Amino acid sequence: MAEVDYPASWYAATRDADEPRTPLATREEADVAVVGGGFAGLHTARLLAQQGKRVVLLERRRIGWGASGRNGGFVGPGYAQRSGALIDRLGLDHARQLYAQSQRGVTIVHNAITELGRPDILMGTGKLSVSRTDQGAGFADRTRKLAEQLGASFEPWETSRVRAVLATTRYHQAIHDPTSFHIHPLNFALALAAAIERRGGKVYDRTEAIELARDGGAWQLRTQRGSVRAPHVVLAGNADLGAVHPRIARAVLPVATYVAVTGKLGPRLGEAIRWTGAISDTRRAGDYYRVVDGDRLLWGGRITTDTTEPRRLRAMMRSDIISVYPQLGHIDIAYAWPGIMGYAPHKMPQVGEVEPGLWICSAFGGHGVAQTAAGADAVAAGILGDPSRCHLFAPFGTGWAGGAAGRAATQLAYWGLQMRDWWDEKRQAQNAETLRT
Ligand SMILES: Cc1cc2nc3c(=O)[nH]c(=O)nc-3n(C[C@H](O)[C@H](O)[C@H](O)COP(=O)(O)OP(=O)(O)OC[C@H]3O[C@@H](n4cnc5c(N)ncnc54)[C@H](O)[C@@H]3O)c2cc1C
Repeated sequence: MAEVDYPASWYAATRDADEPRTPLATREEADVAVVGGGFAGLHTARLLAQQGKRVVLLERRRIGWGASGRNGGFVGPGYAQRSGALIDRLGLDHARQLYAQSQRGVTIVHNAITELGRPDILMGTGKLSVSRTDQGAGFADRTRKLAEQLGASFEPWETSRVRAVLATTRYHQAIHDPTSFHIHPLNFALALAAAIERRGGKVYDRTEAIELARDGGAWQLRTQRGSVRAPHVVLAGNADLGAVHPRIARAVLPVATYVAVTGKLGPRLGEAIRWTGAISDTRRAGDYYRVVDGDRLLWGGRITTDTTEPRRLRAMMRSDIISVYPQLGHIDIAYAWPGIMGYAPHKMPQVGEVEPGLWICSAFGGHGVAQTAAGADAVAAGILGDPSRCHLFAPFGTGWAGGAAGRAATQLAYWGLQMRDWWDEKRQAQNAETLRT
């Protein structure tokens, strides 16, 4: 049976008081059954409950136990796939509409925090995407042009402005997005679940959906001790869906990434990082971090297809931090934990109706806190009769992610990209050195 306790993390240590719910042990009837108690499932259930639908949500472990309760907490528009690649593949108009849908996701998260009466969940605003290589003279124009094409609010920051707030020579220019913000993700997940229940929805944790079958004009989801019958089922199980739908489960590749939170660092942290928003670097698998609890650093990074937790995780995270901010000196890592992201081969979410009444809202990769809300909004609208937002995601299918071979290929690609990032930085540093001598 599933785990009851949350993995040790700073989020779990600072979460709202909550008790496990009673697992499902009856036969339920609903308008919509949702599999997965992460943000994708929670937003879908909440949006539908707000429209008067009877929803039942099943979660194998605890609400927010997966990626949603352990991530960096960054909320911002865009997708794991880069906007330039989307423009190339789909054309500007379609890419712009997809971007607008991700902005809608940001708004849904922001409004939900307000409606839930939980301003404390929002921990800071603004995001800097910093470059570890010099982007050259055309950077500002290129950034403004892309923002204009997408209808985005981001803007270029020159190196001097970046270094005025981040005391490291690792970084050059940055893209600043004032519409992004960062949150306490586990408390947000718990608050969303409570809001679904207040609207009359039912939320069961420690309840795994193990079988899905057609039942007349509806679907029947079976769990160990109960079942749910509903005309609509939404699969929102990320990379962990399991036996309930093996084909869809195989379409999402599990990729591990890590987060650490330091002990209290005192004034030295504020001297190194004078920015209360979120920060990430633009490498293919870069660092992402923010200041939490006044003087702790929450630091995320690395990706690997090996989903076992490394024994040296704390030492690895410490060395990543020190490589950017050596002035922090000795730092104590108070918490470090892994999380699993779900990637489709095209790096875009899988959102839409895959068979009549069977919906998917999954594969949000490394960029999912707002995007799950965007996907949930599209699926909820589809169930309510408006498929237009789901159509935006139609070019991205639910094909096989490659199983073990897919994992090996992804790992090789990641190492290749890491080498390329390392080489770009090294070459620039050498060029700079040559110019100096
Ligand atoms: C360490 C880490 C850092 C990240 N940082 C960021 C960030 O800063 N910003 C950002 O935008 N994105 C970030 N992401 C990505 C983001 O967290 C995810 O894209 C998003 O949370 C995915 O939500 P989800 O609901 O699809 O999946 P999950 O949160 O994983 O939820 C899926 C849930 O479904 C349940 N489930 C699966 N199968 C079944 C079943 N058969 N029956 C019942 N329940 C089932 C699982 O137990 C799980 O709880 C990060 C991810 C990780 C792991």
